[in-house]
Amino acid sequence: MKFPRRLKPTTLRLGLAGCLLIGGSAIGLTTSAASAWERTELGCRFEGHEPMIHYTVDDLTPYHQRAATTAANLWNETDAPGSFIKVDSTVQTLDVKFTYTDDPDAPAMITQYPCGNDVFYDWPVRIVINRTTPWFYERTERELAMLMAHELGHAYGLDHTYDTGASCATGTPSIMQQGTAKFSCQGDGPFADDVAGVKAIYAVDN
Ligand SMILES: [Zn+2]
Repeated sequence: MKFPRRLKPTTLRLGLAGCLLIGGSAIGLTTSAASAWERTELGCRFEGHEPMIHYTVDDLTPYHQRAATTAANLWNETDAPGSFIKVDSTVQTLDVKFTYTDDPDAPAMITQYPCGNDVFYDWPVRIVINRTTPWFYERTERELAMLMAHELGHAYGLDHTYDTGASCATGTPSIMQQGTAKFSCQGDGPFADDVAGVKAIYAVDN
């Protein structure tokens, strides 16, 4: 089985292209008291076995709002446990917030990992799009949705897929692979291996 290899939240954080996963950001340091995120033997996940993850796209342009909503719906159409629920940004139970950065030194996309060093950090988790990055604007709407589905995979608790054999060419694609190779896969993902990974994460007891 492939999925345990990417259930290692204490390992690599730096993306090769298109995504940087940040763990333990010092921004907004909080305790676990109000957090919906929890640690299990398989790493950091949203609490419980059927995660209802409330997200907002209110900060984004309509074009990016559409891609982010498509990404959430792609996950919701799978039989991965729980679902992503779009809400207004003022909702108290907001868990994931799509937003922008204009920092030219920042990567194209960042997901702030919700757990780090046994302390829970930013909540809501922020998925940050670097709108100064030309690479980002060269993406089609389908590719944008796939990238955002990758980021939502992080919000679920998935790490990157490091198995170089996991590709559409070998019949085992993964939305959690970094880079652009996944764009040539048939279908938009999330793929079977991604769904299996989420099922594994939420099957265990805390
Ligand atoms: Zn990533």
